[in-house]
Amino acid sequence: MKNAKIELGIPKKIREISQVLSDAGFENYLVGGCVRDVLMGNKPKDWDIASIASPEQIIGLFPKTFYENEYGTVGVVSEGEEDKTLEIVEVTPYRIESDYSDYRRPDRVLWGKTIEEDLARRDFTINSIAYDIQNKKIVDPFDGQADLDKEVIKTVGKASDRFNEDALRMLRAVRLSCTLGFVIEHETLVAISDNVNLLKHISKERIRDEFIKIIMSDSPAATLDLAMRLGIIKYISLDLEKGVGVEQNQAHAYTVWEHLLRSLEHASKKNFPLYVRLSALFHDIAKPHTKKWQNNQWTFYGHEVVGARITKSALTDLKFPKETIEKVTKLVRWHMFFSDTEEISLSAVRRMVRNVSPELIWDLIDVRTADRIGTGRPKEAPYRLRKYKSMIEEVMRDPISVKQLAVNGNDIMNLTNSKGGSHVGDILEILLSEVLENPSLNNKEILGKKVLELYKMKTDELKRLGKEARTKNESEDEREIEKIKSKHAVR
Ligand code: ATP
Ligand code: MG
Repeated sequence: MKNAKIELGIPKKIREISQVLSDAGFENYLVGGCVRDVLMGNKPKDWDIASIASPEQIIGLFPKTFYENEYGTVGVVSEGEEDKTLEIVEVTPYRIESDYSDYRRPDRVLWGKTIEEDLARRDFTINSIAYDIQNKKIVDPFDGQADLDKEVIKTVGKASDRFNEDALRMLRAVRLSCTLGFVIEHETLVAISDNVNLLKHISKERIRDEFIKIIMSDSPAATLDLAMRLGIIKYISLDLEKGVGVEQNQAHAYTVWEHLLRSLEHASKKNFPLYVRLSALFHDIAKPHTKKWQNNQWTFYGHEVVGARITKSALTDLKFPKETIEKVTKLVRWHMFFSDTEEISLSAVRRMVRNVSPELIWDLIDVRTADRIGTGRPKEAPYRLRKYKSMIEEVMRDPISVKQLAVNGNDIMNLTNSKGGSHVGDILEILLSEVLENPSLNNKEILGKKVLELYKMKTDELKRLGKEARTKNESEDEREIEKIKSKHAVR
């Protein structure tokens, strides 16, 4: 019955690869997550085959392969597969692992002689089931199938020993328990509590990869909450942990930690991309740092500015790619934008688009929605959201950066008959601030006249105005917003 289930789940491509290995006389098995997933009736994210063949022998059997790792894994490449999970199938020689002396990697990787040896070095019983495609036979020396039925995550062998070998397994246990909806078996759970500090030996890259899997799952909030309760979260980010138990003001029913999790959960429900989910999780990261008692309530002034800095350093620490860090940092920095469509002016919206960049403006709206839902408030009324979106669309056609002005640096030098210098940048910023206010000023003649007027000013004066314009261009319209806020007593 189980075999029939597996048989149905195995794609043709995988059978072909297995057949090639078998025809050449090499025993091989499907192993790891894919066997687990197929037995559960789920579609695997990737397919792994373990074989008695050496890397060189595997490479020799397939037209296109790549091999660039220290574990003997050969990627068998088949281009043009519709199913992305079949484009690269990993075939790895049976492995046994020698001593672990630093709580993470085996000191040496040794090839094994049997599938049982290979299964014994794997992390959890449910991940240590092999399937022999040729003989339609399950190999399950650690009773992984029983644990699958019981929906339990349990280490192969003594839990604390296995976590001492490789501490990342603790985070993997938490990740798998939530993505699969399984419980962590008692001894395994106790061993996590006892050994959690070993995670400090694990490279940030490996932690990041599991963290990404959590964030991209369907239930990231429960997973991170479990990670927090087990003391794991600080190895992902110390600052995330700081939000735990931090109460907010009357407008918030939840602590900072709960609010961030709820925001992330919504981003996951909406299937937003990784960087938007990260922004939802980090947007209030600085609230614990900026919390102050003022006018009979807790305030968090400037938390978005401090938050952008903290986010940047947290994601840099986790070795996220630069592009992701930049996007998330910007979204966190600007998540507090004022969006009351009754009150806001087009020039404020224009500045918003300029600050966060046109590429990210719609993501910013998504972060805001996640933030709102994460607070327990209902969705923004559809007509308001529509109006705000139409305002954004309207200003997207307007110039929002110095590059889009009708005059450029060269024009300024020609008009004023001067060489380049700081006055050029100052003039451009001043022109931009006027054009942000009123886009119809953006033509050569009008701006040309202004250039001459500005150039007549004293150097110091021009410098001061340039600096002012730069600050203004980079900020929300403070005056406008303060006015509206005091009217409505918001915050
Ligand atoms: P996913 O569905 O997310 O791919 P997975 O269990 O397949 O989950 P992978 O990281 O793809 O996870 O690992 C493949 C297999 O390799 C696992 O099922 C397990 O057998 C083994 N494995 C992975 N990481 C470890 C580890 N740190 N220690 C021991 N075995 C591991
Ligand atoms: Mg896998």
